[in-house]
Amino acid sequence: MKLIMLGAPGAGKGTQAKMIAEHYSIPHISTGDIFRANIKEGTELGKKAKEYMDQGALVPDELTCDLVMDRIAKDDCKNGFVLDGFPRTIPQAEALEKALDAAGQSMDYAVDVDVPDENIIGRMSGRRACLNCGATYHIVAIPPKQEGICDKCGEKLVQRDDDKEETVKNRLKVYHDQTQPLIQFYQDKDILRTVDGTRPMEEVFGAIQAILGA
Ligand code: AMP
Repeated sequence: MKLIMLGAPGAGKGTQAKMIAEHYSIPHISTGDIFRANIKEGTELGKKAKEYMDQGALVPDELTCDLVMDRIAKDDCKNGFVLDGFPRTIPQAEALEKALDAAGQSMDYAVDVDVPDENIIGRMSGRRACLNCGATYHIVAIPPKQEGICDKCGEKLVQRDDDKEETVKNRLKVYHDQTQPLIQFYQDKDILRTVDGTRPMEEVFGAIQAILGA
């Protein structure tokens, strides 16, 4: 199963993508995670990506597309994958379509996790992340067992720079300008499915399972 998760930053698409990946045993491919890993390792790509990410802007398509195409060509993607945070622009969606087309493949679904803007800012200001293992929490909705500490690896949790309020506002604007047109793009291809992302995360996952089957 080949799946794209769509939704505003903070809509919970990352959380759902991880649950889907685990349930269906397919790789979870998050471009944000790939960039953050590169920043942590101090790679050239990481240095370039950070300049954009810290402002809430998108990393340019030429730094993003090849990265994803290489990743989905790997062996573990044979039975499918869930894309989280990619595509984020129409040119990225077209690049993905072209690469899959060349391999005689296509995406099965684009799932839009729909959450109104007014809910987003509160959600994101409560978000905490573990920079060591990538786990994400929310101080109210998904609190860690021990405040400020990652359940999975015991590292300290932090608020990501790009989850701070000013950056969030900019990310939302970027989402509306550049990413939201993808909803129509996938609607036209008849693979768009929408779930109500304001519901508790287990219910959102249930709605996604109903779409995907099993
Ligand atoms: P995320 O973790 O998906 O919210 O991504 C965090 C940040 O990484 C975004 O705000 C962008 O700056 C950058 N980023 C992630 N995925 C992409 C993408 N597909 N295209 C451009 N920039 C991206």
